[in-house]
Amino acid sequence: MDKIVVAIDGPAAAGKSTVAKKVAKVLGCTYIDTGAMYRAITYFALKNNVNPQCEDDVVDLLPKIDLELKANSKVFLNGQDITQDIRLPDVSQNVSYVASYKAIRLHLVDLQRKMANSKSVVMDGRDIGTYVLPNADVKIFQVASVETRAARRHKENLQHGIKCKLEDIEAELRKRDFIDSSRTFAPLKPAPDSVVLDTSDLTIDEAVQAVLKVIKDKGHDWSKRNE
Ligand code: C5P
Repeated sequence: MDKIVVAIDGPAAAGKSTVAKKVAKVLGCTYIDTGAMYRAITYFALKNNVNPQCEDDVVDLLPKIDLELKANSKVFLNGQDITQDIRLPDVSQNVSYVASYKAIRLHLVDLQRKMANSKSVVMDGRDIGTYVLPNADVKIFQVASVETRAARRHKENLQHGIKCKLEDIEAELRKRDFIDSSRTFAPLKPAPDSVVLDTSDLTIDEAVQAVLKVIKDKGHDWSKRNE
């Protein structure tokens, strides 16, 4: 199979990263979590006592940030492993402000396009099919009801030892989705040529199979991969 680029977009906690990771494994290509990049900048701002809602101050941090996404999904900022830190509630509650700043987006989109330039990737985010990689071979818009998403994220947090209330999670997801879809630059929305996949009643494996079917139906056969 030749180079393939798969874009998976959708609202917060719709299970995109879990599905994207597994699909990338089957295809034998690189998984790129773009949300982790916005989270890393948010984490750095909070760590340096910069108000995430102050655009100029956050943008001023960019020259001080060296961001690296490792093949094993680990996130490094200025040489430090921050993979766990970027999932903390404080980061989740503030990341959508940071992600609404055009200068931040342009900087990260440039890195994202470079990562997808020379190799096959499965990239998940909000604007991958519409803005980052508009020529992606396959575009999925993965959704699930807000109740399902909140319940999944709540369970996941508890498993990782992060204490939280279900109603707080649901409120945070609604707020993030609102900010992400109403921002002016590269908002969250399905690309016109995307396939909408509702995973509310699907297991992870069923969702993975559904994405693989879309890829296969578009004529890509990963069993013939020789990259
Ligand atoms: O995917 P995840 O939920 O970790 O993303 C965190 C936040 O990063 C999103 O709520 C959104 O504000 C921002 N984001 C974005 N564009 C992307 C990926 C994430 O704006 N491509």
